[in-house]
Amino acid sequence: MIATKGLVDFHCHLDLYPDHQAAVRESEEAGVFTLAVTTTPKAWPRNQEFAQATRHVRAALGLHPQLVAERASELPLWEAHLGETRYIGEVGLDAGPRFYKSFDLQKQVFKHVLQCCAKAGNKIITVHSIRAAKVVLDHVESYLPPSQGKVVLHWFTGSNSEAKRAIELGCYFSINASMLDNERHVAMVGDIPLDRLLTETDGPFTKTAERPSKPADVAVVVEALGRLHGMSAVTLAETVRSNLRSLLELGEEGRVDA
Ligand SMILES: [Zn+2]
Repeated sequence: MIATKGLVDFHCHLDLYPDHQAAVRESEEAGVFTLAVTTTPKAWPRNQEFAQATRHVRAALGLHPQLVAERASELPLWEAHLGETRYIGEVGLDAGPRFYKSFDLQKQVFKHVLQCCAKAGNKIITVHSIRAAKVVLDHVESYLPPSQGKVVLHWFTGSNSEAKRAIELGCYFSINASMLDNERHVAMVGDIPLDRLLTETDGPFTKTAERPSKPADVAVVVEALGRLHGMSAVTLAETVRSNLRSLLELGEEGRVDA
């Protein structure tokens, strides 16, 4: 297993582990750049407080599409915190059977989120797109000009042609181990240009060795992506780190941790 220092977990729910603060500390000690996504803007202040005390953890301001049915009324609160962070998520759309009834409302919320991000500028947004790849990309294309923000598609499972469209729109992709368990998804992931790849765990919703994944487990993804591209895990890890730097628009000298 490769060293965890310098790896990237661009989508992890640190506040959903039994001990949030311990989960933050563990990421920090492992030296994994971890984007701590939130599902409701009410969770933002505490996530931001914990993240600000670290070098490697950053918090993202979210309103999860699976919670929109009950929590769309928190959209003004989401907007009130927008100026406090560059990182947004988890946001997006979910057209799975359990959440389809709120799909129209989800679309309204996601449109507003993208419009607010476009207006503010310079945001980096981690986006959920279960069974909704096309509509997510339609929204990104309509409401977020590429100069106004960047989208990272989290756990993207769209078709090859949808992935191609996302690439043309300038999106990045954060890949997790579960995606690479599925043959069809492996083929799609294999076609994503190396310079658009990031890695994630989506912990605690995925498992590694029969327990909820932690950010350091992103090493498994790095190794699998390395095998897929015929590259060493170390080289693949460097590629992802450099993609993170360009996503954040920092030069070679720029510190991702800064
Ligand atoms: Zn998630």
